[in-house]
Amino acid sequence: MSRPRLFIVSGPSGSGKGTLLTLLREKYPDLFYSISATTRAPREGLEQDGVHYYFLTHEKFEEMIAQDAFIEYKRYCGNIYGTPRKPVEDALQAGRSVILEIETEGMRDAFAQYPEAVTVFIAPPSLEILGQRLRGRQSEDEEKCLRRLKQAEEEMKRSGEYRHVVVNDVLEDAFAELDRIFRAETSDS
Ligand code: ADP
Ligand code: 5GP
Repeated sequence: MSRPRLFIVSGPSGSGKGTLLTLLREKYPDLFYSISATTRAPREGLEQDGVHYYFLTHEKFEEMIAQDAFIEYKRYCGNIYGTPRKPVEDALQAGRSVILEIETEGMRDAFAQYPEAVTVFIAPPSLEILGQRLRGRQSEDEEKCLRRLKQAEEEMKRSGEYRHVVVNDVLEDAFAELDRIFRAETSDS
């Protein structure tokens, strides 16, 4: 038997959240991954609406804010990102564990509403390696990479607020650690 939990996962852009969470979702298909809404444009050829994000106009996003449709929402590097409330509530109600992949301020707001949530911070081995990975991903231009790296420094300072910190150096080791945390936190005993 396993106990359904809400996991809140943060970490600087490029730290490997997407890579690690994809592996976790492959291993545990019943895990519900919350699809956030954003005003950011999709990464061409990589992201699909309704799969990676719900890509919304600013107008539509504001409309949903007014309807209290988000657990939390935040501005990040010029765009708004938010966690739609209903799918998360429905999944928890159905007894499924849920993952929110959100930035550090959003974690605070979500945690205030779900104090039983398990918080996990994915950290890069160093800011230098983070820079290499961000550039290697080739999803942002140099200006956007620099902006994200600056933001990363701020986010790293908040890693101490999380229950677990996973350093993503060697991918296999980081995944083994994340998997161990997942199993321990969802175990009944
Ligand atoms: P995030 O979702 O946190 O923005 P990604 O999962 O997209 O980060 O990872 C950023 C880049 O780093 C990707 O190109 C990914 O393939 C690569 N990457 C992730 N983890 C590792 C690792 N442990 N070692 C080397 N490269 C990695
Ligand atoms: P990206 O543009 O790289 O997909 O995401 C940028 C940042 O926004 C990441 O730190 C990511 O975790 C965060 N993010 C994604 N969705 C949400 C959300 O729904 N709420 C908040 N607060 N942050 C989010």
